[in-house]
Amino acid sequence: MRADLQAIIERYGRNQHALVQILREAQDLEGWLPPAMLTDVAKALGLPRAQVEGVAGFYSFFYTNPAGRFRILWSDNITDRMLGAPALMDQMCRSLWVEPGKTSEDGLVSVDTTSCTGMCDQGPAILVNGWAVTRMTSARVEQIVALVRDRVPLERWPGEFFLVADHIRREGLLLGDQPEHGSALRSALDRGGQATIDEVKRAGLRGRGGAGFPTALKWQSCRDAPGDERYVVCNADEGEPGTFKDRVLLSAYADLVFEGMTVAGHAIGARRGLLYLRGEYRYLLAHLQSVLDRRRTHGFLGPSVHGVEEFDFDIEIHLGAGAYVCGEESALIESLEGKRGTPRIRPPFPVTNGYLGRPTVVNNVETLAAAALVALRGGEWYAGIGTRKSTGTKVLSVSGDCERPGIYEYPFGVTVREVLDECGAQHAQAVQISGPSGVCLEPGEFGRRIAFEDVPTAGAFMVFDRGRDLFEVARNFAHFFAHESCGFCTPCRVGTSALARMMDKIADGHGSPYELNEIFKLNRVLQSSSHCGLGHTACNPLFDTLNKFRPAYERRLRSLDFEPAFDLDASLARARQMTGRDDPGAHLEPVG
Ligand code: SF4
Repeated sequence: MRADLQAIIERYGRNQHALVQILREAQDLEGWLPPAMLTDVAKALGLPRAQVEGVAGFYSFFYTNPAGRFRILWSDNITDRMLGAPALMDQMCRSLWVEPGKTSEDGLVSVDTTSCTGMCDQGPAILVNGWAVTRMTSARVEQIVALVRDRVPLERWPGEFFLVADHIRREGLLLGDQPEHGSALRSALDRGGQATIDEVKRAGLRGRGGAGFPTALKWQSCRDAPGDERYVVCNADEGEPGTFKDRVLLSAYADLVFEGMTVAGHAIGARRGLLYLRGEYRYLLAHLQSVLDRRRTHGFLGPSVHGVEEFDFDIEIHLGAGAYVCGEESALIESLEGKRGTPRIRPPFPVTNGYLGRPTVVNNVETLAAAALVALRGGEWYAGIGTRKSTGTKVLSVSGDCERPGIYEYPFGVTVREVLDECGAQHAQAVQISGPSGVCLEPGEFGRRIAFEDVPTAGAFMVFDRGRDLFEVARNFAHFFAHESCGFCTPCRVGTSALARMMDKIADGHGSPYELNEIFKLNRVLQSSSHCGLGHTACNPLFDTLNKFRPAYERRLRSLDFEPAFDLDASLARARQMTGRDDPGAHLEPVG
């Protein structure tokens, strides 16, 4: 085995659970993972080679076939496309004489697409050997082409290529002035573990990953679960297209997030925390490590945290390798354990059988930051902000057709229209809330409120003005799900691909009412028989746009000069009845 590979494996203590991290670092040695390297890793870790190969083949940032010395991936989110990504990628491929999705004959460069890289406020964006480059223009494409042709190492590329701006447009509780480092932790330690959970319960804090599960209930279940080892996991795998608020929280307010993890660790009785950082945010790794080091120096992490002898707690960071499904908490835990990110069968839930089979709390970045503030300022204060069932604030990632894309923090209960006014979106015809798996709102719904009672969201707020083709938006989302389906269960694996193919067929002018009917049928299949949330929600964007922007589809059917015999209205009514998705806006009572 080559010495540098051996050194990597030894640094991870030959730990099988570090397989994803070992493969990530091993790939940097040659730009891909040759078969002999996989064999060496398998032998050193005592794992079946098939398992190692299975893991390497699962994650989209691992290459098991030779790839270019420069591996360029264009973010293929709809907002990147709206900013001109396809034409720029085409320009790059022509200048480099490489076909999209292929490696150049001399092995110098490969160019391909990837799912949203979380830079929607400053796209079009690319990843070069895993490093984010933002604000691509035609001139920047030519500069990169020249650097690649001259084989200039990435470290010598202009620094401004790699600048990622925070774009904080509206401050609130989390994005505003920060508490003194360690103060929230001090309050939690003084209060005690159970009392902290009680305080979080009083606050009414709900998970910010989208589902809105009560945080205190999760913490309590974990604290009460049998076992002497517990874990806190921070889910920073924000892969939902259009979402980038966790990127900013980690970039600008990492202390608050780590403080929240430590508060959670004390409350549930954990000694170890893990932050799962999405691979696209690799550029944040060094910064986050330095924040952890500083916190150790100040005694906020490590043995006897803040001088409390019986509380040892530390945090480590695990970098993902490109798999949207790992945002699902049990898939994320599998990935942390060095496996393919396949969602587990639940129950049992992570609070009793999580990381390494031990009780584990998995919380979103924003949830943990908010928990730190609750620990500091109390549950009653927090519960006085927002609405009755959605207390506190929500950080939104605003992108698309607006003058000021970026991060906005609002008390829950803000209307969609208020957000549109503030971000400078005067001609919106639709807003996609919470990414492709969320909901598409039409102008008549802009009075609805961002809240768990009305429009819940993990944070994405994508604006489409009147000039946009909502069919193409939905087609992009259909391809996203087909690409990201992990393939574990047949309804999702086959269904998402079938949906993408049908959308392509309609786009090519070969669609008929048959395809529309099939979309509704597939929606039922995916909702009822998929294993995890990806499959359940994969049809949402098609369903919503068909429901609300029907002419965008019909235009294409008419291109065949075909008179639809299919009664779409009746079909929609049936589908609404079956899925119960035609919710009227809830009437909220603001309390803050
Ligand atoms: Fe994988 Fe899709 Fe099944 Fe989820 S629903 S387990 S993503 S194949």
